[in-house]
Amino acid sequence: MEFIRSDIAKLSAYAPEVFESPTEPLDKLDANESPFDLPLEIKEKLAWHYQHFLATNRYPSGSHADLQEAIANYVNESASLDAAITPAHISVGNGSDELIRSLLIATCIGGEGAILIAQPTFSVYGIMAQTLGIPAVSVGRSLTDFAMNLSEAEEAIAQTDNPPIRVVFVVHPNSPTANPLTSAELDWLRRLPEHILVVIDEAYFEFSQTSVVGELPQHPNWVVLRTFSKAFRLAAHRVGYCIAHPQLIAALEKIRLPYNLTAFSQAAALVALNHRQLLLQSIPTILSERERLFQALSQHPTLQVWQSAANFLYLRLKTATPEIAQEQHSQFTQALKAQGTLVRSTGGGIRINVGSREENTRAQERVEAFLNRE
Ligand SMILES: *Cc1c(COP(=O)(O)O)cnc(C)c1O
Repeated sequence: MEFIRSDIAKLSAYAPEVFESPTEPLDKLDANESPFDLPLEIKEKLAWHYQHFLATNRYPSGSHADLQEAIANYVNESASLDAAITPAHISVGNGSDELIRSLLIATCIGGEGAILIAQPTFSVYGIMAQTLGIPAVSVGRSLTDFAMNLSEAEEAIAQTDNPPIRVVFVVHPNSPTANPLTSAELDWLRRLPEHILVVIDEAYFEFSQTSVVGELPQHPNWVVLRTFSKAFRLAAHRVGYCIAHPQLIAALEKIRLPYNLTAFSQAAALVALNHRQLLLQSIPTILSERERLFQALSQHPTLQVWQSAANFLYLRLKTATPEIAQEQHSQFTQALKAQGTLVRSTGGGIRINVGSREENTRAQERVEAFLNRE
């Protein structure tokens, strides 16, 4: 098909783990979702809203004004910001994935810019850049704490022209390695010139409770990404948002599809925000389960497990040399899947998210069974 761009023809489509099982449902610990569905009482509220208020023949709100306002309130409240963030600082996307794409369109497309990422990190930045014909420059991380190699990053920015680096993507805390930005990384980001956009993805903010939103007023070239897919338990609804200077938000609003969010998804996000106290009560449970899983997995002398500031753990088999790491970690993933637990082999290691208590206990047992195999 000669009409398809040659670089797209060479790409393969993003393939999430297959989670259907012929026999029984698998424990899904591969996508960093919350193990807890929305409580039934909140689903009922949403259903009631759907039945009585939502006209399915009408297009949804295209401006998201209510949602922007509710998000601004939540952001101010969670950062003790005293109304510094207004609806004009917020743009809402069909998942933060859409916002990542919009940011790339707003900054780099058409040969105007390249992006900088530190591997391993969230794969969507690189994938979306590729589909838009935007070069992605990768730098490495420390092998002990996964902090970005800052001198390599400096050099990449200095050396890359035609097109120059216009955007730096970081995740705070990073996926899959679960580490928050260090103070050295934050200082470096603060010193970046204003012609470079800094995207700080805080998808796991509710678990880490560390955020840079308080610094946004001093940095018009920073944007913070957040999502309802993780702590707010709304992955099925695809709602993400970003917080940035109103001028950048205005640019994103020009790019966004006119009705990018269904009315039902907007209602779900509003209901979730209105009941945030109840929904976020699950956070301490997840954090204490994370500690329990960390302790259990750390017992194994052949596993290296890193401390986590998010709702997942990152580990590597110490026996895996770089040459065979991929293969060994795939074996690990396959062995767990055969026993009924889905985890993800990525970035030269294994990412396993904290599930319910029962799921975590089964995961521990299944890891043990794999490590004790003949
Ligand atoms: C899960 C995740 C997201 C969320 O993406 P959505 O499109 O909002 O579901 C964003 N960034 C990172 C780093 C993530 O891990």
